[in-house]
Amino acid sequence: MTNFKDLGLSPAIQQALDELGFVEPSPIQEKAIPELLSGHDVIGQAQTGTGKTAAFGLPLLQYLDPDNDEVQAVVLTPTRELCIQVTQALRSYAEHLDIEIVAVFGGAPIRSQQSQLRSGAHVVVATVGRMMDLMSRRSLVLTAARFVVLDEADEMLDLGFIEDVEKILRMCPSGRQTALFSATMPPPIQKLAEGYMYDPVTVRITPKTLTVDAIQQAFVEVPAREKAARLVEILKIEEPEQAIIFTRTKIGASRLERTLKDKGLDVKALHGDMSQGSRDGVMIAFKDHRVKLLVATDIAARGLDVEHVTHVINFDVPNSSEVYVHRIGRTGRVGRTGRAITFVTPDERDEIGRIERDVNTTIGEWESPEDRLEHAPRPRRRERRERRPREREGEPAEAAEAAADDEGPEADGDGARDGKASKTTKLFVNRGERSGIDEEDLRWALREGAVLPDEAVHDVRVLHRFSFVEVDPDQAERTVEYLDGTKLKGKEIRLEVAKS
Ligand code: ADP
Ligand code: MG
Repeated sequence: MTNFKDLGLSPAIQQALDELGFVEPSPIQEKAIPELLSGHDVIGQAQTGTGKTAAFGLPLLQYLDPDNDEVQAVVLTPTRELCIQVTQALRSYAEHLDIEIVAVFGGAPIRSQQSQLRSGAHVVVATVGRMMDLMSRRSLVLTAARFVVLDEADEMLDLGFIEDVEKILRMCPSGRQTALFSATMPPPIQKLAEGYMYDPVTVRITPKTLTVDAIQQAFVEVPAREKAARLVEILKIEEPEQAIIFTRTKIGASRLERTLKDKGLDVKALHGDMSQGSRDGVMIAFKDHRVKLLVATDIAARGLDVEHVTHVINFDVPNSSEVYVHRIGRTGRVGRTGRAITFVTPDERDEIGRIERDVNTTIGEWESPEDRLEHAPRPRRRERRERRPREREGEPAEAAEAAADDEGPEADGDGARDGKASKTTKLFVNRGERSGIDEEDLRWALREGAVLPDEAVHDVRVLHRFSFVEVDPDQAERTVEYLDGTKLKGKEIRLEVAKS
């Protein structure tokens, strides 16, 4: 087994990796790190979730001189989310180094970013647009940036940033080292590499073939507000023997459970707010076929091994292609054909293309079994036909209304639920001092990760093992949605509305 020491990383970096629980390098790290440490330009291609950040981040950090206050390294990212994520990751790897890492991205006040830059940044992690802006204001000078990384380069292409990326590269020293990381390598990205990299070494990890072929996959485009009603409709049409429905958050899971129950469906929820005992109870009931539908979060469903699930429904689109494969892998086992249906809002429509590319599969638009079963045996078709008209009339519309009613008041946050209009909502965070997290870190996460204005944050209290934050009630749900399951200083954080 290769370990990080064999790759030539310094003890301070190794210690941080130890603390993060990184035992051995991932394949892309094993191949890219030595090349980068020996000074080569590197093109790294590997799927999402394979550890590309550390593959470029560790050599980058090792290369920096803490005593030199110039910007020595630049990481360009396509979106603010990725910018924040990469910054958090690099900070966690740099835990024992005296290195300042500054994130600059759009949608946040440029002034505070300028002042952070003025007080010294060894590494700047930036979105392309904000980088251009700061350069034109001369707040950011790249003359000493001898290490440049283009992260998730193919996504920059989707966003039309390539020309700006070229401009930025031209401002960096010509003797720089350049690394380009991407999940895919379309021709314009290859061309960029040819034009701006010096004799690059290509490091490529071909994905293991993912066995999603036995699974029929479809997507449904639906506005967020209509999701629940559409789900009810689709469940009636699909008639799953058993289905797992995945939601992004615990709050989302329990809300959906209630909505489906109100529609008379046989459903149970499985999420981290429940005691271990009741979770076990739900799992056993589901395995014994005493429950038809399970609404679950990814974390809660992790240990779930069930064989006869006919349908997996992604009520919320998964965060990564890896999660997608993991979720839908629960159907189509033991030679049976399963179905996976993924809901996307119009804004999330691009996610489907991304998953198709990463997983090398095709996901068509969902169609009713009538259309699908064109060539199926007759009796089954007739059975469906008989049932259809009744469903077509009244029900979907009623369901839509009911669901809209359901979602309405709660969407305003949980603090207001009990009627006695509380002025703040208290959120529980599963991390505290013991995980190396302090008040500043949490305030940073609320500001940068959940995009909360400072006025919306009323109190942040860090205890030994966990913390509490108090926010405006109408920001509570969003805060949970944005931060639950993300990482802070390399540790996964879980958030939920605190029980009073
Ligand atoms: P990518 O950029 O390829 O999508 P990331 O760099 O975001 O992937 O890493 C995905 C996840 O894997 C992160 O949560 C990261 O902390 C974790 N990770 C990366 N490298 C390792 C490793 N060597 N051991 C354990 N976990 C790792
Ligand atoms: Mg990445």
